[in-house]
Amino acid sequence: MTNNKILALKYRPQEFKDLIGQDIISKTITNSILKGKTPNAYLLTGIRGVGKTTTARLIAKALNCEKANSEKINCSKESLCTTCKEIINSNHIDVLEMDAASKTGIDDVRELIENSKYSPANAKFKIFIIDEVHMLSKQAFNGLLKTLEEPPPSLKFILATTEIRKIPLTIISRCQRFDLKRVGITEMFKHIKNVSEKEKGNITDGALKIISKVSEGSVRDALSLLDRVITFQNLSSNNTVEESDVRNMLGIVDKSKIIILFKEVLNGNTQEAINILKTLYEDGIDTKSFLNDILELLNLVNRKISLGSIEKDQIIPENEINLINEISKEINITDIGLFWQFTIKTIEDLKVISNDYMTLEMYILQLIHLKDLGNDNEQKININAERAENTVKISESKNKEISETSKLKTKNQLKNIEQIESEIIKNPQKNYKQTDYKNIKTFEDIVNLADKENEIELKYDLERNVKLVNFKTGNIDISFNEKLNKNFIKILTEKLLNWTGERWIISLSKNSGDKTLYEKKIELKRSKIEDAKKINEVNSLLDTFKDAQLTDIEDIKD
Ligand SMILES: [Zn+2]
Repeated sequence: MTNNKILALKYRPQEFKDLIGQDIISKTITNSILKGKTPNAYLLTGIRGVGKTTTARLIAKALNCEKANSEKINCSKESLCTTCKEIINSNHIDVLEMDAASKTGIDDVRELIENSKYSPANAKFKIFIIDEVHMLSKQAFNGLLKTLEEPPPSLKFILATTEIRKIPLTIISRCQRFDLKRVGITEMFKHIKNVSEKEKGNITDGALKIISKVSEGSVRDALSLLDRVITFQNLSSNNTVEESDVRNMLGIVDKSKIIILFKEVLNGNTQEAINILKTLYEDGIDTKSFLNDILELLNLVNRKISLGSIEKDQIIPENEINLINEISKEINITDIGLFWQFTIKTIEDLKVISNDYMTLEMYILQLIHLKDLGNDNEQKININAERAENTVKISESKNKEISETSKLKTKNQLKNIEQIESEIIKNPQKNYKQTDYKNIKTFEDIVNLADKENEIELKYDLERNVKLVNFKTGNIDISFNEKLNKNFIKILTEKLLNWTGERWIISLSKNSGDKTLYEKKIELKRSKIEDAKKINEVNSLLDTFKDAQLTDIEDIKD
């Protein structure tokens, strides 16, 4: 480094034109100052490190600069006036900075207000900059409000905050508000590349891109990371910094490894997926950020499928984009939705499960299983559709010479159940509605419907293998046991659509749910038997026939 000053201070913008990523705000503020139409109070909001305090000082300088005129907002950094110089060094007598984080009480504000009664000593305006203004107490805000309502003409307030919601509306309405934006990744990259070159950094673009990304829009964070990286460069033997160096420094996993792991999941390669997971875990991945990386990946794949491209501002290395493009061909939107939900649930699980590796392994295995569910269904539909097509073809060729009526008849005879089923799957919008949607009010109603429709397997699954978690017409949450048919959800969704003309949402819940209907039935029977044993006649009967057992009870209808 050319000197010891930290980069964030060294490269703090001294003119509005140097402010990164806040073009509109810069323009609005400078225009109003040039026109002499300035508000009594400015309110600057935005995330930390985005340039609020810097902007506050830029405003203070522009309002008080000795060299300012109707064309030029303030002196240039090459030839600063005394006022600007003093403001930069935080020692101008009329520009007072207060950090509300440390001075929150009414007494601090009272002192400030007392001071505000005096005219500026030697500048045009007396300016109060209050940082982290949301930290003020209620009383302090009330004190401040009175001054904001009737401010002396030579007094200006500049308030800055990261938490606008904590500021009373009465205060906000007295200020002109400016929301400083997060700095976009592309813009951040340009900025730190520029600083890096000036500092003789020998850092690859890939490494700089990682810094731009992890700083999440905060210029200060990006520069302080750059500081660390340049120090690292000066200490390292080959005097360059690569992507992998930055990753190691920040404890960030190589995203392409996660993408490859995900690819193995989609291909159903359980062993390979687990091997990669193990390596990543041994390398020290953070469990939660790993799961968040998966969410980010799902979002990118979804974006690729739905919108055809990945947002330019994301800055993703070429090899990762290629991988994402490949993945987007192997997964459909439904699976992405399922994976998304499941990932979020796993993140929640982390709060209760102490073994991180176990959670991750379980997560990966379950993802593979979820993907299988989807594949099986697709294959089945494809087979059905193919068969149906062939059957129709045969029937058509056979029927060429037969009259129109018998042609239809033969065709209908050839249509087996499978064919009809596949047509339903192919044309879900076709209305087979037989039952009024609104009449299905309980889970049992669905079981009865399956019975009525002669769906024996489905009814069996509903009764024995499904545990109800939550039921609303059109929306069912279930959990299940290992015996449940893999295609259950798909089948039930299609059947319900055909029976009711509505698309039902059936989701798998991780809550254990109620008992199955069958379990409930057994339990009811058992308790009836127990009750019956208490009846005297039954008791004496059982006493008489020692080998007899009461196994069932039936209500007699009279
Ligand atoms: Zn100046």
